[in-house]
Amino acid sequence: MPRVALKTPAKWAYMGLLALCFLVGTLTGWTSLAARVDHYAYDILTTATAPTAGDNQSVLIAIDEETLRARGGMRNIRPILTQALNEIVAARPKAVAIDVILSDKGDPADDTRLEEALRATPKLVLPSDIVATNTTTTWEDPLPQFAGAAAGLGHVHPEVDRYDGVSRELSLEQIAGLPGHRDRRWALALETFRLTRGASIIESPDQLSVGEISIPATQSSAGRPLLIRYGHNIATISAMNIPRQQADLRGKTVFLGVTALSAARDRLLNPYGQNIPGVEVHAQAFETLQSGNFLRRPSDVSALGLALLFTVVIGLAFQFLSGWRAYLVGMIILAAAHYAPVFFFHRDLVFPYFGPAAVAWFSFIGAATYQHFFVRRQLRRSESEKSRYQQAIHWAAHEMRTPLTAIQGSSEIMTRYSLPEAKSKQLSEMINSESKRLARLIQTFLDVERLADGQIEIKREHFSASSIVDTCLGRVSPLADNKNITISLDTPIKGQLTGDRELMEYAFYNLLTNAIKYSPAETRVSVTAEHNGKNLRLSVRDQGMGMDAKELKNIFRKFYRTKTAEASGIAGTGIGLSIVEQIVTHHGGRMEVTSQPANGSCFTMVLTADFSEVINK
Ligand code: ADP
Repeated sequence: MPRVALKTPAKWAYMGLLALCFLVGTLTGWTSLAARVDHYAYDILTTATAPTAGDNQSVLIAIDEETLRARGGMRNIRPILTQALNEIVAARPKAVAIDVILSDKGDPADDTRLEEALRATPKLVLPSDIVATNTTTTWEDPLPQFAGAAAGLGHVHPEVDRYDGVSRELSLEQIAGLPGHRDRRWALALETFRLTRGASIIESPDQLSVGEISIPATQSSAGRPLLIRYGHNIATISAMNIPRQQADLRGKTVFLGVTALSAARDRLLNPYGQNIPGVEVHAQAFETLQSGNFLRRPSDVSALGLALLFTVVIGLAFQFLSGWRAYLVGMIILAAAHYAPVFFFHRDLVFPYFGPAAVAWFSFIGAATYQHFFVRRQLRRSESEKSRYQQAIHWAAHEMRTPLTAIQGSSEIMTRYSLPEAKSKQLSEMINSESKRLARLIQTFLDVERLADGQIEIKREHFSASSIVDTCLGRVSPLADNKNITISLDTPIKGQLTGDRELMEYAFYNLLTNAIKYSPAETRVSVTAEHNGKNLRLSVRDQGMGMDAKELKNIFRKFYRTKTAEASGIAGTGIGLSIVEQIVTHHGGRMEVTSQPANGSCFTMVLTADFSEVINK
């Protein structure tokens, strides 16, 4: 399909459509469906790019089913912890993080033994959980006797996705309390990491630094979320087996927690689809921090920028390339939109999947549809204009042939025969009038083209509106008489016009001849004038064939004729009204038409006039 250059209004419409596609695509990117798809894509990508089995620094000590069964269940959790800690400490770990809430008082003897074990533990981190009261939130910290033994407290508040309940992120900080009395805890994993590094946490709005490690964690209402890179192959040792595997604990950071399905209250789903205990989430987050290999989310602006780029490229492709080339570029962009998240993920950037792809699809479909229909419409229009133009040329040729034949015939007779004077006078008069008709015909055709091209210079004369009306009424009266049509002029016409008198006469004359031409005999054509502020409204109303609303819209198009007019056999070219409209608009006015099929039409010229003095020229 050939490419058709868009004119300015069409260009705006096209750009508006693309903007709409961008907006709709972006909005769909914010729906819950989009969030689910984005998560699904994220999970596939994470699973496909599991961290390489490296030098893990942590070990998980699991209080599992077997331990609970052998040691009296959760009732005995404190003695279980005490024994596990004593055995762990003997193995000389680097640090120990416990994910068992110790905020309630237990058996005093048990608690004292646990306190002793805690005090003997190096770099110990204990958990705090956030609890909501009626009016605020507060920290559920370990009992002071336990907290006093810890090097740090860390929050163990789980962060799960609100749509699918999967744990992908961890809030590196959690704040309890009201604005004014804010009480912050770092995440258990971060606090443990800080202790193992022997460094403090340096905060900036978009990252946290611990020693030489910079953690991308932007401050937000979600509390500096960090994407956990699951998939670290962390050694898990049952709390029952610590003495046998002490060598595996030496120099490691130990995460100690309940993993038994029957007892762990915080089991979560990870992107691998595995149901894991909370303590493993902390260990995986710790390994993520430890590896220094972070996934980042780009800013909303970059994601929008990427989507906008897709729209712009697709828009330009369909604007400047023709046919299959535009579709090819469009499809390349679609492929790019689908591949972009994968490309960026390999560069540790988690771009949304749905939004930019939706924008690309909407833009592709929008641009392709627009161009398809626009080009088709343009082609149809130019085809029909061409055929009308040809018809007009045929008509003109036909019209020219009649005066030409008369001129030729008369001149031949005059040269061949010697005629009586009266006869030769009659023939030469006919030659004169026919050649004038021919000249007028040619002039009309030339005028149309020149006016359309803006080649005709419009004079700036002052003349009264009534003089135009009078001249034209005088000229059309023989036509009206032929059909027994009464022309009435009921209102006085005031106002002085400025412009090209000849063109203005031509325009008004055309409206009158049309009214007569397209009306049956014995009807009335009325001319009225209305003054409205600075405007003069000159109307010609007839009782003729009229036209429907659709035809009314096209009436000023060059070579356009209504079906009824064509069918009636009344000769016409469909040029007159297009010239009338051009003349009126060149004079700063406008045309208005009302019409109903079989019920007559009313053509009104709305012109700016000066009513201060009336000059009758
Ligand atoms: P032409 O009369 O030579 O066809 P015009 O440009 O003057 O060309 O008019 C275009 C068409 O508009 C006409 O062919 C006719 O279908 C319609 N038309 C114009 N004036 C009237 C009218 N007064 N009543 C009904 N139809 C009209």
